[in-house]
Amino acid sequence: MKIFRTSSDMNAFSREVRRKGGRVGLVPTMGYLHQGHISLAKIAKEHSGFVVLSNFVNPTQFGPNEDFERYPRDLQRDNNLCEQAGVDAVFAPPVEEIYGRNESVWVVEDSLSTVLCGKSRPGHFRGVCTVVAKLFNIVEPDIAVFGMKDYQQLKIIEQMVRDLKFQIRIIRAPIVREPDGLAMSSRNKYLSPEERKNALAISAGIKEAAKKISAGCKDYKKIKSELALRISQSGGKLDYVEILDADSLHEFSYKNPSKNILVAVAAFYGKTRLIDNAIVGR
Ligand code: AMP
Repeated sequence: MKIFRTSSDMNAFSREVRRKGGRVGLVPTMGYLHQGHISLAKIAKEHSGFVVLSNFVNPTQFGPNEDFERYPRDLQRDNNLCEQAGVDAVFAPPVEEIYGRNESVWVVEDSLSTVLCGKSRPGHFRGVCTVVAKLFNIVEPDIAVFGMKDYQQLKIIEQMVRDLKFQIRIIRAPIVREPDGLAMSSRNKYLSPEERKNALAISAGIKEAAKKISAGCKDYKKIKSELALRISQSGGKLDYVEILDADSLHEFSYKNPSKNILVAVAAFYGKTRLIDNAIVGR
């Protein structure tokens, strides 16, 4: 497995693969890998011969009071996991390789980013879109895989690819969960055993809400308040609970329910902000 630190080495590798007729699949991550990330690498392998996993904690997607400094990092452990998973190349650049000193160009999505995490984390998706656009330009992949765990991010990247005409196919990967239902996340490491147990209210509550919607319940307000109550009773501090049209991320009415419905939650357990969601197809 190759490990690249510079954009030029990364790009030369990708170009060489493609010159020989190969296809390149990219899995962008912020590292501290878990089985959710590994599942993305496996999906990328099915769609392309060569898998590049980028491992970069992107400073511009963190707010001033967020966890950029303490975000967990362990490159050696990550590289071992990548090697076992059949990743062909890891791109792990230092910050200076991705951000120059006097940068003034950003990629801003200004519709889907106004709700959910975009509303509570101003500037977050500007950082995400900008770094992903840079990674696309450096790696020049044929496909890129994103997890549905970060459903809003996935929707925004799909929109960016359409609007900016990136010649890249985006593949959606399902959420990988711990056996008890908690969605895997690098941030789960922050949770105390007690918070870890309490945080199960998120996945269990979303599952319950999705079940009610599938069964035809259209009282979305009630479903939302029950889910919110379950999370706050477990000790979680709610950021949001939303039930939205999964395609537009808009609210919809009782009379005109959407085809695909997104149930999305963000909540803090202690200092740790967790997100999770489910899509209910009608
Ligand atoms: P992150 O390192 O958290 O920025 O995530 C990198 C990629 O892995 C994103 O596309 C995430 O949506 C995806 N991902 C993170 N956690 C999971 C999970 N539990 N299941 C599936 N994909 C995930």
